[in-house]
Amino acid sequence: MLRNCTAARYAVNKARMVGIAEYSRDCLRALRTEIGISYDERSQGTLQLFRKQAQLDAIGGDIEVLKQYNVPYEVLDRDGCIRVEPALAAVRERFVGGLRLPDDETGDCHLFTQRLERIAAERGVKFVYDTTIQSVDVSGGRVAQVATDRGALAADVYVMALGSFSPLLLRPLGIDIPVYPVKGYSLTVPITDKNAAPESTIMDETYKVAITRLGDRIRVGGTAEVGDYQVRLRPSRRAPLDRSLTDLFPRGGDLSRATFWSGLRPMTPDGPPIIGPTRFENLHLNTGHGTLGWTMACGAARVVADQIAGVVPEVPAADLSVARYT
Ligand SMILES: Cc1cc2nc3c(=O)[nH]c(=O)nc-3n(C[C@H](O)[C@H](O)[C@H](O)COP(=O)(O)OP(=O)(O)OC[C@H]3O[C@@H](n4cnc5c(N)ncnc54)[C@H](O)[C@@H]3O)c2cc1C
Repeated sequence: MLRNCTAARYAVNKARMVGIAEYSRDCLRALRTEIGISYDERSQGTLQLFRKQAQLDAIGGDIEVLKQYNVPYEVLDRDGCIRVEPALAAVRERFVGGLRLPDDETGDCHLFTQRLERIAAERGVKFVYDTTIQSVDVSGGRVAQVATDRGALAADVYVMALGSFSPLLLRPLGIDIPVYPVKGYSLTVPITDKNAAPESTIMDETYKVAITRLGDRIRVGGTAEVGDYQVRLRPSRRAPLDRSLTDLFPRGGDLSRATFWSGLRPMTPDGPPIIGPTRFENLHLNTGHGTLGWTMACGAARVVADQIAGVVPEVPAADLSVARYT
């Protein structure tokens, strides 16, 4: 991770992530049109909010990448930020400006996955729950089956998509992928005054906290805890989330009724996910999406499906494969 903290590596890694994320948004929009799924979505962009002038002055590198990928953006002063997020008028002294990505979207990913499951099940997809995969069994350069606590499952093709847990099942096969659990915390807060709540998504750059509106709730997410696979809630981790929301949307939601939860982000040291084939001909990887698993989900899934079907993906995907680490 440290070795990736140079301007040159950042430019390469960011470009890879923007490529798959932009494609993913297009795939999500196409899916929405095709199957008519709704999930408290809002298509009003993301505002990266800067509290200090130095942050605003340092966005040149990001803008270069956005230009390279023709991603629309707006650099906004204080009044510009308030125009897109009117509730910020009450705290105008707390920030200096922002970078807005008007094409970004937000929504409730839990609702999305639940509804997608129902639609897929109606079309014949079978979901198996409460089943633990114990091993991936290979034979003759192929995966033969996965062993689970409810018996073996065999298929023509396998996609390893176990997030932070993927390396644990790949290691016995001699595939070593650098995916690590980085724990994040989140609050979901009922909105008390919708005029004092966010319209869409605000990234509080100083504290690396994202605040977004999901229907009648505000979702606040952030913090990065490098550690183990435990999702135990540490009360002290709540403070930065509370502070960011109270600072920017003091009257927006009722923090006393917040739900506090945590999850693991499957992070790679360079940032982009690991998508693509392995040396086992029927085993593909789709993991390591880090902080942007939903952002990249539809595009990543489409790339993997194309690769399995022997179709050339619509976006360059070779740089996303595990081969980039060798
Ligand atoms: C606080 C927080 C906020 C976030 N905000 C955003 C955001 O705004 N936008 C965004 O795009 N992303 C966000 N993310 C990141 C996103 O949640 C992840 O990138 C995404 O969940 C990764 O998806 P995944 O399916 O690869 O892995 P996971 O969601 O981790 O799913 C892996 C699944 O595999 C199961 N599993 C593991 N081992 C086994 C086994 N042996 N047998 C059977 N099942 C197994 C696990 O139980 C789990 O259900 C956030 C993450 C956190 C923690």
